[in-house]
Amino acid sequence: MAFIIDENKCSSCGLCADICPCGAISPIGVYKIDPEKCTACGECKDSCPSYAIMETDLVSKVMGKLYPLTREVK
Ligand code: SF4
Ligand code: SF4
Repeated sequence: MAFIIDENKCSSCGLCADICPCGAISPIGVYKIDPEKCTACGECKDSCPSYAIMETDLVSKVMGKLYPLTREVK
């Protein structure tokens, strides 16, 4: 499991980067999580005031549910 930042929700407050014990979050253009450094502790997700950080497993589940719908539209 890993975590990602939704760029559309992120307000660039920097709180997650300050709180990450692994130094995995940096503002490269927008705030991003380095999956090589992230240990999936979840502290950034809990600290984000914009609810912009998600577990990638959750994203995969949502995309899996949406995929059949996109096929129906075509
Ligand atoms: S704490 Fe949330 S809003 Fe703030 S920089 Fe991190 S992801 Fe963006
Ligand atoms: S889950 Fe933990 S290690 Fe990974 S980016 Fe967030 S605070 Fe850092």
